[in-house]
Amino acid sequence: MQLLLSLQLMEKKVRVRFAPSPTGGLHMGGVRTALFNYLFAKKHNGDFILRIEDTDQTRFVEGAEDYIINALKWCGIEPNEGVGFGDGPHKPYRQSERKELGIYKKYTDRLIESGHAYYAFDTSEELDEMRKRLEAAKVTAPQYNAITRQNMRNSLTLPEDEVKKLLESNAPYVVRLKVPRNEDIRFNDIIRGWVTVNSSQVDDKVLLKSDGMPTYHLAHIVDDIEMQISHAVRGEEWLPSAPAHILIYRYLGLENEMPKLAHLPLILNPDGNGKISKREARFPVFPLSWKDPREAEPFVGYKESGYYSAAFINILALLGWNPGDNKEIMSLEEMCSLFEFERVSKSGAKFDPEKAKWFNQQYLRHKTDEELANEFKPTLIAKGITKDDNFILNFCKLVKEKVQFTHEFWEQGKYVFEAPITYDEKVIAKKWNDSSKDLFAKLADVFKGINDWNSTTLHDEFAKAQTSIGKLDMQLLRVLVTGVGGGPQLFDMLALIGKENTISRLESALAKL
Ligand code: GLU
Repeated sequence: MQLLLSLQLMEKKVRVRFAPSPTGGLHMGGVRTALFNYLFAKKHNGDFILRIEDTDQTRFVEGAEDYIINALKWCGIEPNEGVGFGDGPHKPYRQSERKELGIYKKYTDRLIESGHAYYAFDTSEELDEMRKRLEAAKVTAPQYNAITRQNMRNSLTLPEDEVKKLLESNAPYVVRLKVPRNEDIRFNDIIRGWVTVNSSQVDDKVLLKSDGMPTYHLAHIVDDIEMQISHAVRGEEWLPSAPAHILIYRYLGLENEMPKLAHLPLILNPDGNGKISKREARFPVFPLSWKDPREAEPFVGYKESGYYSAAFINILALLGWNPGDNKEIMSLEEMCSLFEFERVSKSGAKFDPEKAKWFNQQYLRHKTDEELANEFKPTLIAKGITKDDNFILNFCKLVKEKVQFTHEFWEQGKYVFEAPITYDEKVIAKKWNDSSKDLFAKLADVFKGINDWNSTTLHDEFAKAQTSIGKLDMQLLRVLVTGVGGGPQLFDMLALIGKENTISRLESALAKL
């Protein structure tokens, strides 16, 4: 008990990081990684850090960093430290700037000195040849490893003085991790439990590239240590590299300070039979002025498609995690208090685009009519339509059951603002007959006599007219006034359209048909 207590007291403060590379817009999986980091940090009163991993200069995309920052802001999951969010004790937060601190070199030197890393001078042609040789020998996964390195040009095979000479003459080289042959590497993943991998499946990873930049494998370890990261939460695609990372920590004598690992499950398409399509996975919340330079067209993302950020975050949270009681709609605060890695699944999470729309609809329905009216007003202003606030509010109240997104209000209910030009042909063909004109002209006269133009009166007067005038088809009336065959409750809608408009629309339809 005493021991358990002191172990708990020794637990590190929770410090987690989202560490994207600025190679383009964020994908859905990336934002989910950011979200799970955020939720875990908040749950444990910890820190959430944004680190930009920009050591691969060849893949750098202009504007991507701002895009990442804006995406996190839009989602409402802001880091407490990091690029774009303010400095903390472990600045800077861009790896290209951290390189200036000399830390990557320092740790690499430590590995070289202890004999766990070595210089490799092979040219790309030599590496190609090696691969071809191995392929010809039917080696399934050709790699630079404990066996193949023996035939290559590196500081393990070349005489010491030649290595010295090469280094002095600034010959290009990389530094590789010396992965031992046939050794079981075991580690505990918070989500997956114990994982064992034999080192024969791990290649001699490059740690430092010929341009002097560290690779991800080295840089993230150095930074996680230096920034006192307690948990490294990242996508499943990094699981195969984790054994190499364990070795690096071990050879640096830092295994006890190593962050706990959590590899999040893949996001799958709705059938669960493949990774989610690139189109759906992409999560552009671009400021519209930014286009990924690698894309032909600006990409319409979840923000631009009209998703509420709270709804989108809610959808993401449930991709691989659930609070355990079928609860679906949750605020960010609720998610923070309920989140735990024990309830994150190992298996891939299916993403259903239709369900995503449903989520947005739920959030829309929770809005007040005032809020919806305020969201819809700019559409009317842009179209040069002026209506008083009360009218817009009543419109939203009436149409909100029919929409999943704010921008659908116009499509669903534009006839409230504009008289129809065409009339639903199917309804007309089915319901218009020789007596219709006469019957609806009489109905127009009944309407003219109504002083108190509201839904209840309209309902009552229409019912009376059914006996005094004759059988009047409600759907036909709807089409004559609005042009379309379906929509919200008919009399509520006529009340909103107003007496004069309703009558004039009815009369002009009768004149046309
Ligand atoms: N830069 C890596 C990536 O973009 C980060 C992986 C990690 O979180 O360690 O996937």
